[in-house]
Amino acid sequence: MTFHGRLRLFFAIIVIVPMLAIAAVLFSLTADSERGKADAAIATGFRVALSLYREGRTAAKDDLRRLAFDDALLRALAAGDRGAAQARLERLVRADRRIVSAALVGAGGERLARAGPKYGIAAASAFLDPKGGEPLGSLAVSVTDARKLARRAAKRTGLEFLVLRDGRPLASTVPGVRAMPEAGDFQVSGRDFRGRRTAVGRAGGNEEQLGVFREAGEVNSAISTKRLVIGSILLAFLVLALATSVFVVRALQGQVGQFLEAARRLAGGRFDQRVPIEGTDEFAQLGREFNNMSHQLEANIREVEGKRRELEETIRQIGKAMTTGLDPQASFELTVQTAVRACEADAGRALPLDLRVLREARAGSSESALLAALEQAERAAVEIRPETGRELLDPSPTGDRRRNARGPVRAERNGVHALALSLQARLGTRAPALVGVVSLARRERAFTPREAELLEYLGGQAAISIENAALHETVQQQAITDELTGLSNRREMRGALDRELERRRRFETPLAYVSLDIDDFKRVNDTYGHPQGDEVLVQVARVIREHTREIDDPGRDGGEEFGVVLPGTDREGAADVAERMREAIESLRVPRLEGDESLRVTASFGVAAVPASATDKDSLLAAADAALLRAKRAGKNRVECAPDLR
Ligand code: GH3
Ligand code: MG
Ligand code: MG
Repeated sequence: MTFHGRLRLFFAIIVIVPMLAIAAVLFSLTADSERGKADAAIATGFRVALSLYREGRTAAKDDLRRLAFDDALLRALAAGDRGAAQARLERLVRADRRIVSAALVGAGGERLARAGPKYGIAAASAFLDPKGGEPLGSLAVSVTDARKLARRAAKRTGLEFLVLRDGRPLASTVPGVRAMPEAGDFQVSGRDFRGRRTAVGRAGGNEEQLGVFREAGEVNSAISTKRLVIGSILLAFLVLALATSVFVVRALQGQVGQFLEAARRLAGGRFDQRVPIEGTDEFAQLGREFNNMSHQLEANIREVEGKRRELEETIRQIGKAMTTGLDPQASFELTVQTAVRACEADAGRALPLDLRVLREARAGSSESALLAALEQAERAAVEIRPETGRELLDPSPTGDRRRNARGPVRAERNGVHALALSLQARLGTRAPALVGVVSLARRERAFTPREAELLEYLGGQAAISIENAALHETVQQQAITDELTGLSNRREMRGALDRELERRRRFETPLAYVSLDIDDFKRVNDTYGHPQGDEVLVQVARVIREHTREIDDPGRDGGEEFGVVLPGTDREGAADVAERMREAIESLRVPRLEGDESLRVTASFGVAAVPASATDKDSLLAAADAALLRAKRAGKNRVECAPDLR
């Protein structure tokens, strides 16, 4: 049931129903009281008529006495002469103007004589008994005319009267009313009457009745008038109550509507607008609480929003740090830790494809249920070779070039939700290749799209970090390596010389430097072409590397000149190494690029050492160069040592 409906029901119950009940009671009371009044008037009217009736009977007694002693009448009666009795009675009645009628009844109750109209009522009667004899009968004398009695009573009381004898009407003040019930309402020729009928006396064996009545229409119209007044008052009251209820309902709805509107605004994320507050009633209190609530919500959401932004910013910084920081293992671990914290996961791990390069990284709980879910998601994200259970195959064999083309994959296992992302990176290849998988697991709550997005972002950053580390290594390698021979380049070799001189200064160990130059190399180029010259350089470089130790640093000084830094070696030792190299180069057969023949080269060496022949880098290099120059001048293909310092 709606709020509106409930209010209506409430008003119906407390206003309309009681009002209808009151109306019913008042209506019935009105009718009762009006009828009661009518009945009281009828009773009064009856008493008036009854007293007239009794007066008439008393008045008849004088005449009765006179007639009862009339000799002629008694004689006729005694003689049993009916005709004489009738004649005498008629004369007597005619002679007396007061008498309305008279009747003579025999001892056996039979009618002997009768005179005057039938309207005579309220007769006085007496036995006729001559002195000393048997009663001859009885005489009844009436001086009351029923019609007059009715008229007089009506005149006095304003009511209507009916006079009856043995149920037959003698007189009525309303033409047509010839009978009526003992009490209550009746209808005659379409008119409604109300009244009562009572026996008032007996005369000559006949019962006389008086009926008093009035038109019920008056009573009914009085009832109607009063009912109309009551009804109007109640109606006015009802209208007032309804108007009040409509007003109250509107006011309530208005206030409730404001709350509803405010709640909708809250639901829509607008917290700035407040519910207007009037007065101090419960609605005002509710409004105040409501406003407090939205204020609190607004503050909380702002705080959460701020924290979220902070977190996102932090994550972005972490992501940036991962791509610029050069340790892929560290970024691997940071990825898992950040993802677990930011996504509120219970566990997380990052599995590398190549365990020689990276190690597995873990964060959060190691509970088996979580690990099982992690594994399920990982299997869904990448294919795992069953024989090793660990090596990961490329998840996108269709050749999708995008990084993490598949995005995070979801899995659910025994109420644990997991999310896994395959990591793709370009490692010297053009297409991204699978390098690992990072996954998260959480009990009960599934990961939101936003969390998946975050994992994808972090995973992407980790992949970039791995890419960058690989790239950095390559660039670094390229920066210090001679491209053609794979030996250190000039800069790296000079750097190594600096480092070793520094180390020598601290540990006082000797350090030698051998400078070598291929003899007549120009001729190789000129005769066989530049590519063949390159091949000679590659082969010579290989010989040099073969004749040096791990700690020695051979390098290409430029062109067909090479140098070797020999830490912990003195001039004589270095001269031995140089001699062995010289011999090896001499016996080297460099295959011809075209044809089956091979060609031979020789090289000249200059050897110098600290502290024997120099004190620092420049003097060492100069001494080695000078020795090399001497070897060239002396006919090439030989080793010359720098002289002792003087
Ligand atoms: P010498 O016995 O006096 O050392 O004579 P040389 O011909 O070896 O000396 P020179 O300095 O006159 O010639 C060096 C030549 O090495 C010149 C240049 O064309 C060649 N050269 C320098 N760098 C390279 C290279 O990277 N590849 C090839 N194929 N030739 C190179
Ligand atoms: Mg040269
Ligand atoms: Mg040369």
